[in-house]
Amino acid sequence: MSKIYDVIILGAGPAGLTAGLYAGRARLSTLILEKGQDGGQIAITDEIENYPGQIVEGESGASLIARMTEQAKKFGAERASDVIKSVDLSGEVKKLTGAQGEYLAKTVIIATGAFPKPIGCKNESKFIGKGISFCATCDASFFEDFEVYVVGGGDSAVEEAMYLTKFARKVTIIHRRNELRAAKSIQEKAFQNPKLHFLWDTVVEEVCGDELMDAMVVKNVKTGELTRIEADPDDGIFGLFGFIGYNPNSQLFEGTVEMDRGYIVTDPDMHTSLPGVFAAGDIRVKSLRQVVTACADGAIAAMQAEKYLSEHK
Ligand code: NAP
Repeated sequence: MSKIYDVIILGAGPAGLTAGLYAGRARLSTLILEKGQDGGQIAITDEIENYPGQIVEGESGASLIARMTEQAKKFGAERASDVIKSVDLSGEVKKLTGAQGEYLAKTVIIATGAFPKPIGCKNESKFIGKGISFCATCDASFFEDFEVYVVGGGDSAVEEAMYLTKFARKVTIIHRRNELRAAKSIQEKAFQNPKLHFLWDTVVEEVCGDELMDAMVVKNVKTGELTRIEADPDDGIFGLFGFIGYNPNSQLFEGTVEMDRGYIVTDPDMHTSLPGVFAAGDIRVKSLRQVVTACADGAIAAMQAEKYLSEHK
């Protein structure tokens, strides 16, 4: 029979890894399950300027996450890679079934995060990896000295656009309104960047090309005017990066815990609607999705799991 862990944490982003650290320090037998690489969205973020203490020159999201992983491991949290296909969280022993096996625990912390929203234009799926990307850190170097467009107006779009200016010869932010949502400090930097340009009140309607994406049609949402933007003939391609927010990774839990528009509802102590099941980080309903709030959630969830275990011996 499989080992019954005190706590299984699903997801190894900042919330999951912090939960792992706190659970490990509380001497709970802990398993962190992750289907891909550690870090979630942060692993693909170049610069995190607002995590307290994060002022180390050259530090990236990936290096911060590597240290979080190490720290959780140091306190005894085990780590396994698997894609969980189904869950049964209602009993005293929770069961998670993955492609590689079955995992049992007395408590579960859901920290599965969220994934980027598609841009929503015609032919989008055809050109993902052939012009369209959702990760500047991963794909910026492919567009060295090319033209690049970024869709969105929040912190992610503007920060990633600034990162892309280190590679591309020109970066244009396409935003559906005429003002940015990004924090003022980020906007100030962006407006000073000579390589950064803005296409206001505009959305991407369609992307076009044969093998590679070499044109797109954009629409001015105020006038309805359509404009075709072509790649420079010498380039034959341009980049289009989407940063318009995220969808929660919660399909697995549909019908098991209470949700609101796909995000898991918790109380301030991270309890979901099911006893012994907690949620932490971007997956839950909250007002601010940041590394610092994800970590805080993870710490609270682990401490509440410990409390639950001591009350259900
Ligand atoms: P966000 O703040 O939700 O911004 C999404 C942006 O995309 C908005 O400007 C929105 O336009 C636009 N948008 C949404 N749907 C769209 C659509 N269908 N078509 C075109 N545009 C669309 O998302 P985010 O920038 O990914 O940030 C998520 C959270 O992470 C935020 O809390 C943010 O502060 C945080 N974050 C922080 C940092 C940092 O501080 N270093 C970095 C990244 C993210 P409207 O403005 O018109 O709604």
